[in-house]
Amino acid sequence: MHDIVRKVVSGRLEDMFEADALASDLSGRAMHHLVSELFPICRSITGDGVRQTLRKVQEHIPLTTCEVPSGLKVFDWTVPPEWNIRDAYIKNSAGERIVDFRACNLHVVGYSVPVHVRLSLGELKKHLFSDPAHPDCVPYRTSYYAPTWGFCIAHDQLVALQEDEYEVCIDSILEPGHLTYGQLRLSGKSSDEVLISCHVCHPSLGNDNLSGIAVATALAQHLRNRDLRYSYRFLFIPGTIGSITWLALNQSSIGKIKHGMVLTCVGDAGAPTYKRSRRSNAEIDRAWIYTLQQSGSPFTVLPFSPFGYDERQYCSPGIDLPVGCFMRTPHGQFPEYHTSADNVAFVKPAALRDTLERAIATIDVIENNASYINQKPMCEPKLGDYGLYGGIGGKSAGDYQMALLWLLNMSDGDASLLDIAERSNLSWDLLTKAAEALTSAGLLKRVEDVSGK
Ligand code: ZN
Repeated sequence: MHDIVRKVVSGRLEDMFEADALASDLSGRAMHHLVSELFPICRSITGDGVRQTLRKVQEHIPLTTCEVPSGLKVFDWTVPPEWNIRDAYIKNSAGERIVDFRACNLHVVGYSVPVHVRLSLGELKKHLFSDPAHPDCVPYRTSYYAPTWGFCIAHDQLVALQEDEYEVCIDSILEPGHLTYGQLRLSGKSSDEVLISCHVCHPSLGNDNLSGIAVATALAQHLRNRDLRYSYRFLFIPGTIGSITWLALNQSSIGKIKHGMVLTCVGDAGAPTYKRSRRSNAEIDRAWIYTLQQSGSPFTVLPFSPFGYDERQYCSPGIDLPVGCFMRTPHGQFPEYHTSADNVAFVKPAALRDTLERAIATIDVIENNASYINQKPMCEPKLGDYGLYGGIGGKSAGDYQMALLWLLNMSDGDASLLDIAERSNLSWDLLTKAAEALTSAGLLKRVEDVSGK
């Protein structure tokens, strides 16, 4: 870790969090409850809203908080000044708050500079933003790098505004401070890492922001209880500038990341979507697509494109990590996206749970993927002599025997379990059980056992 980064580890962190309440709740309601607790907080790419969010996550997992000072150069970018806001409103001449930040934090354009003035309707309108396509929703807008101020309001309200003298106040502070992010590393047998990344920079938006945080937190809880092959690095970071900052400060350890996924928009009722990494056919890409296929329900696979969430940075050409992005309905493709309608009710407990289970299934694949060598490759071994054939009827037994035969046939030291799974279209559970049985019977050997690695 770069020594300019201040790490904040609260004293008795290990004692603070609940063991695995989020991961063990099969209904997804515990994750949904976390979404509802985080929803009111006004987050941005920096500031106390991010810190408050990470403290809440720390009740569930032992996250470390890192503080990076404003002004630090990170590749082509600079860590921005820290933004905090206490209050904001537009009052009419009768003194009534007609727009109130305390009622909905989306009303203020993120990173608005402080202002306190009286304006005519004409002047005020230059600073008002609405979305005519969704006239009853408050849109979400930011201006991180161009100093300005503004309010977002429902289009219905905008068109109904009367001529008046309006009092406009944004009580914000924009000054040198820190960019805050959270990280958690779970150690496995190998120091090679799997990266799980989500963004924590949107204010009161449910699916685009909080769903990813809830599932990543639950996934960390689940993995903490497992014997792991890989080490896992969870990042809870502000979008774009957070991943750029983390990558710039951790260039020496980027090579340890062997697989990765960005989790975003994972709580809506839509079908799953997986966006491939820049490498397109990395093991993580294939693992996700195989588990989606095995589920038997509809899903979409998108090619890589240099737009979207932090996979853009992880997959920039100089970094080129095998990091894909899992989502349900992609950003911009649900009408609630970046509006006040992306609220707690838009996030579904069952969708959060389904996402968690799919992520666990995919991790099972990369955790157990291995290549084997058939020890009796001259024609089929006589399986009955090893107690591996006959005596079992029914369809599942047939699949199990097919798994044995596929493994024996393909295990030339080159093909991996995932290769065999894709070709045979058999379930991961069946193939790993069959590989175990063949290994115990001395018919298969794992490549690393053979080469003595
Ligand atoms: Zn967004």
